[in-house]
Amino acid sequence: MRVYERAPAKINLLLDVLRKREDGYHEIEMVMTMVDLADRLELEELPRDAIELTSQTGNIPLDERNLAYQAARLIKDRYGVKKGVRIHLDKRIPVAAGLAGGSSDAAAALRGLNRLWNLNLSPGELTGLAAELGSDVPYCVRGGTAIARGRGEKLEPLPSPPPCWVVLAKPPINVSTAEVYGRFRPEKVERHPSLERMVRAIRAGSFGDICAELGNVLETVTLELHPEVRRLKEIMRKLGADGVLMSGSGPTVFGLTAKETKAARIYNGLRGFCKDVFVARMLT
Ligand code: ATP
Repeated sequence: MRVYERAPAKINLLLDVLRKREDGYHEIEMVMTMVDLADRLELEELPRDAIELTSQTGNIPLDERNLAYQAARLIKDRYGVKKGVRIHLDKRIPVAAGLAGGSSDAAAALRGLNRLWNLNLSPGELTGLAAELGSDVPYCVRGGTAIARGRGEKLEPLPSPPPCWVVLAKPPINVSTAEVYGRFRPEKVERHPSLERMVRAIRAGSFGDICAELGNVLETVTLELHPEVRRLKEIMRKLGADGVLMSGSGPTVFGLTAKETKAARIYNGLRGFCKDVFVARMLT
């Protein structure tokens, strides 16, 4: 028995940090959506009680440090499942990019194991398990477009934005999410993005207004640390993207356009600057 799941990348259309909490986490407000750049998971039942993880890529751990492995462990322990699984991860989302690749793999593993082992877990039960694996995992289980609050685990669904093209470029640098949050200084933010206006733009289906309302306060940290991310944003804008933003804590930058020909032009223009460039569609 074998099942397949796709694990799409997420992008933040908006990311605001409201305050640092007493527990050390930051209280955030985000608008997230997904694109069709996705990892693919194949889950196959094993005749023995074990979790095995394989991947074509060499740059992620394939043991208990992997979020897909942790998802399998959690489900097995919680529901006393004595069966085994081999998960093959065809990794296409760049790693440590601000695209929640690991969280999306964990979410896909939860959905896939629910089917493989006929557990009949409800969406609510799956998001409950997801919250134990990481702040972005509950969103990745549900997908779609959503507001995320708290640490990112309190979700409110939104309608999909109008269909558009998303060009993503990841410069060859490593950004640690923890370091970016650690260096975040609220006083450096000149203008906070408006969740209210972004939600209105999405509800109205206005592509132009969505582009105008894009905002991510973590740019104040990552663009200072890595000027090449700022440069990448400028190049994308010059190439004609209608809206440009860094996703999550970076370093991936994405550009939005409604036209396929423009997306191709931006993609071709960026290839000279950056190896990891992708053209994707926003998932609706
Ligand atoms: P986020 O946007 O949620 O901060 P990210 O896109 O920046 O996530 P990931 O690609 O999820 O980052 O990887 C972050 C770290 O998690 C990597 O250093 C990697 O070693 C580890 N990791 C664990 N499981 C996975 C996985 N399935 N895929 C990728 N990375 C994983």
